[in-house]
Amino acid sequence: MIPIKHILLPQPVEEEAVALLKKAHLEVVLAPDKKPETVASLLKGKQAVVLRTGITFTRELMSRADDLWVISRTGAGVDNVDVPAATELGIVVTCVPGANTISVVEQALALILALMKQLPLMDREVRRDNFDIRYKNLPSDLNGKTLGVVGLGRIGSELARACQHCFSTRILAYDPYLSQEVRTRFQGWIEFCDMERLFRESDVISLHIPLLPSTRHLIGARELGWMKPDAIIINTSRGGVLDEKALIQALKERKIAGAGLDVFEEEPLDKENPLKTLDNVILTPHSAALTKECVVRLALGAAQTIVDILHGKKPEGIVNPEVLTQARWKGLGSI
Ligand code: NAD
Repeated sequence: MIPIKHILLPQPVEEEAVALLKKAHLEVVLAPDKKPETVASLLKGKQAVVLRTGITFTRELMSRADDLWVISRTGAGVDNVDVPAATELGIVVTCVPGANTISVVEQALALILALMKQLPLMDREVRRDNFDIRYKNLPSDLNGKTLGVVGLGRIGSELARACQHCFSTRILAYDPYLSQEVRTRFQGWIEFCDMERLFRESDVISLHIPLLPSTRHLIGARELGWMKPDAIIINTSRGGVLDEKALIQALKERKIAGAGLDVFEEEPLDKENPLKTLDNVILTPHSAALTKECVVRLALGAAQTIVDILHGKKPEGIVNPEVLTQARWKGLGSI
């Protein structure tokens, strides 16, 4: 058994997850707000944290804990945790891989279709009694077009599958980190290519890469400049992978047809962010994984991870497995 007794929730999580923790005889404390100073003041005596995206676990914040073993993220991305610092401090960082895949795929598809069918414009004009918009502004079909997927992991590959299956789209993919073995699984229906060809040939580009120092602004003015003027770009991954200033410029100058964005360089969006003034973008508030069904899957997954560790069981989504070689984790159950 790992000595986990007290859990801190910097933000509320679904009641199903709280019930699961309590059933395992764990005491759950909810922070009254998610300000770092509030969370820091509650970290003493807590062995685990269930973490959503509203707060960043920095080295400074983690060092305010005196007995922290686990930071359990409710999502797939861990960019709001200083993982190297957690590893140094002997804290296991976990995520719930795959639980949000289908919800993000649906959101990316919704953004693609809403942009191609020009839903915001059509809706607005009908409300203005401009029914003639149906003749003046022809939307596009996705069917038979080319989808370019940057990052062919869980979400990217499922989006590709859905688009190919439902809309006979041609699929191009850029993912230099996939092994040859994994690539062969996509043989016959996905063509791997370099970033330039993907951007030049795709009608729809969808980003599904993690935010890492190496992927920050991976997509900038140069890549956007390769896009066809009637192509659109979708970002449901992390805001930082796309240079927002360069995107705004390309959208303003109509060098590209549109963008569907669920994530931003700064969240929440700044009041003055020019994206809000553009009519060729659709903006959603990092809500791709926040469906009724998905939030329960994510919270339950994060809670179950803590219960698994409590019982000495190695959970699936350990982000820093090297931490398990440290003395505090040795000889504890089957871990
Ligand atoms: P995943 O780990 O299964 O896939 C990521 C893929 O990106 C991998 O195949 C990897 O090889 C590839 N990759 C990494 N660096 C790359 C690079 N420089 N160029 C091209 N490819 C690269 O992750 P996933 O579950 O598919 O999620 C993708 C991202 O979506 C996550 O990292 C997360 O940031 C984001 N996400 C967002 C939401 C949301 O609410 N909007 C929800 C879930 C996940």
